[in-house]
Amino acid sequence: MKIIDHIKQAKGTLVSFEILPPLKGKGITAIYNHLDPLMEFKPAYINVTYHRSEHIFKKRSDGSFEKVVVRKRPGTEAICASIMNRYNVDTVPHLICGGFTVQDTEDALLTLSYLGIDNVLVLRGDAAKNETSFEPEPGGHKYAIELLRQVVNLNNGIYLEEDLKGTNGTKFCIGVAGYPEKHFEAPNMQTDLSYLKDKVDAGAEYIVTQMFFDNKKFFEFEKECRDAGITVPIIPGLKPVTSKKQLSIIPRTFYVDIPTELSNEILQCKDDACVEQVGTEWLLAQSKELKAAGVPVLHYYTLGKPNVVCNVVKQL
Ligand code: FAD
Repeated sequence: MKIIDHIKQAKGTLVSFEILPPLKGKGITAIYNHLDPLMEFKPAYINVTYHRSEHIFKKRSDGSFEKVVVRKRPGTEAICASIMNRYNVDTVPHLICGGFTVQDTEDALLTLSYLGIDNVLVLRGDAAKNETSFEPEPGGHKYAIELLRQVVNLNNGIYLEEDLKGTNGTKFCIGVAGYPEKHFEAPNMQTDLSYLKDKVDAGAEYIVTQMFFDNKKFFEFEKECRDAGITVPIIPGLKPVTSKKQLSIIPRTFYVDIPTELSNEILQCKDDACVEQVGTEWLLAQSKELKAAGVPVLHYYTLGKPNVVCNVVKQL
């Protein structure tokens, strides 16, 4: 079922979870162990992130280096299908521009549709680890909106090969990313919002946000979106802070602020068990306020900490 239909049919705020594919070598049971405790909360859907290949340099015995391509977390599409099979819950694979030619994208979309997956979250992807800024694959897309247009085309039966025009199309519900604290490359919020509106005008049916730790930023972003004429559902993305080192890792990785009140409380903690407690309480307070404000879905980035998310959702 499409995410937009879940939202339309819901009587209150839904819950959804986001997971990463396991590191190669860990096996699919790592995913089941992660999700099993979360399924009692009947999530409307589960998102599975996409991780492109990286180049690493391996030292040879003669001291020279060999450039090797590795993909640490493959399997997004198959994991989505396995989750649907095991739990009978909808899944949302993330689909990125990085590393894909338009032909690769078309093939991936067809694979997903054959697997019975009705949803995709369409993203640009970040720069590869060895790049200073995002470089599209030759013959691939530069911005999420270009990828989105390809999905919309395929939904309308428009394939890359013109002679297939008018044959069976796909039926994906398309989500896109939004940034309450601005995407780090955008010169200002207004420019970022105008590109977000373009994505919605081009066919995105909902927005899911980057994580944020201050609800005020979400509410301001939501208002700015509405003022800009964006009317689709906006789903807040939420993540628990569970260790002291995240106080610098999160801002560095995701370009979001940790509010002073939260960072002060965390800095007073003697160990990470205490940080986890503080992070749980913070996430619970954020979730309660967002739910009371009537957000369509609370989307949790579970990232290896399903127990914290369990504790929060249990108390909602
Ligand atoms: P875009 O919408 O293309 O925007 C990228 C930048 O370009 C922005 O600064 C925007 O303002 C600007 N821009 C947009 N359109 C134009 C245009 N036409 N001309 C000029 N500038 C433009 N990354 C992964 O690799 N895998 C994942 O699974 C993944 N999941 C994510 C899930 C969520 C909810 C979020 C918020 C992010 C996720 N990311 C993921 C990270 C994401 O790929 C990065 O944040 C990336 O840098 C931007 O992606 P985007 O889709 O927002 O890009």
